[in-house]
Amino acid sequence: MKPSALFVVTFSLLSLAQAAVAQNMTPLLLAVKDPPVPFRGSDGNQHLVYELEMTNFSSAGIAVEKVEVLSNSGAALQTLDAASVAERLQPAGLRESSGTLAKSTRSLLFIHVVLAPGAAMPAQLSHRIGLRVAAAPPGMQEMTETGGATNIDRQPVAVIGPPLAGEGYISADSCCDSTRHMRAALAVDGAVWLAQRYAVDWEKVDANNRIYNGPKEKLESYAIFGKPVLAVADALVVTAIDGEPEQTPGAYPTNIPLSKADGNFVVLDLGAHRYALYAHMQPDSVKVHAGQKVHLGQVIGLVGDTGNSIVPHLHFQVSNRPDSLASNDLPYEIRSFEVTGKTPGTKEFDEAETNGTPLPITPLKQSVQSALPLDQLIIAFPTSAPDSQHTADHQ
Ligand SMILES: [Zn+2]
Repeated sequence: MKPSALFVVTFSLLSLAQAAVAQNMTPLLLAVKDPPVPFRGSDGNQHLVYELEMTNFSSAGIAVEKVEVLSNSGAALQTLDAASVAERLQPAGLRESSGTLAKSTRSLLFIHVVLAPGAAMPAQLSHRIGLRVAAAPPGMQEMTETGGATNIDRQPVAVIGPPLAGEGYISADSCCDSTRHMRAALAVDGAVWLAQRYAVDWEKVDANNRIYNGPKEKLESYAIFGKPVLAVADALVVTAIDGEPEQTPGAYPTNIPLSKADGNFVVLDLGAHRYALYAHMQPDSVKVHAGQKVHLGQVIGLVGDTGNSIVPHLHFQVSNRPDSLASNDLPYEIRSFEVTGKTPGTKEFDEAETNGTPLPITPLKQSVQSALPLDQLIIAFPTSAPDSQHTADHQ
């Protein structure tokens, strides 16, 4: 377009709108599909967890060099440098992160903002992104974009009872910077879902801090095997599946269909569009059936190793739909528990799970009320069944 032609076009637009609006190329498109739901973590802080979808609408690579999460007042709540972005930006359909989006591709940036207990919760968030756009002319490749505006979803967070009783439980792959659940973005039934965003794989250590003691491939070697699984609220059973066989611990089963991935599982309707999923229970242990009412603390099954499971454990999550994969996972808070220790991290946990060696646990003694157990903690739940109460809401 010649400069004179450009002038004519610009002039016409101005005449129509009677206001000059600058137009900028935004080769990186930003969007948040699931607004973050604030919740209280077991560290006492407020947490915001969500995914910023980035689409490279250009013909060459875009390097994301900086991301600032902005509150509606304009304050930067969090700044991610290029190295942090590279650890948190995951191309669609892949599990390895990369700070660069190849041409014409989409990635999800996994964001976790921590606010102090008394800090004001913003009403909205947006993002200021520093990027290098290879398709732009030389000298114009460094760009800044602002976008991906989202509300904060202030829906009440479910406050529930414990899914297990007793001590020594490990909150494996829990919120908020672990990857196996948090980043399990799956395309199911025509949409991308984060159904396991806040899921926990509960495991257990014995008195010697071992996950298993004895033959690795024997179910009974595992401290958690056979522990009773409890209804977290007075609820209605939506789904109860039994009859799937145990796997052999130590290796994932091969060629397991999606429909059998949860093994023997139960979905409870907690009300207000919240559904609790309990997966991988023992065969013949699921004693509830669809349509049945259960009460808080009622035993609904026993911890097993069925479905897509490598060792006996309880997978637990609360989502907005009864489907285990096509649902948006929601945070929840457990009414009362104790944090009795913490592991050094997922790597050491994996080693202890693989080798049966004691986990080097740092002891803690912390009573927690109404919070989500964060990642890699050792948790003691009340041993006696709690008094029956309805699921309470907590703002
Ligand atoms: Zn899991």
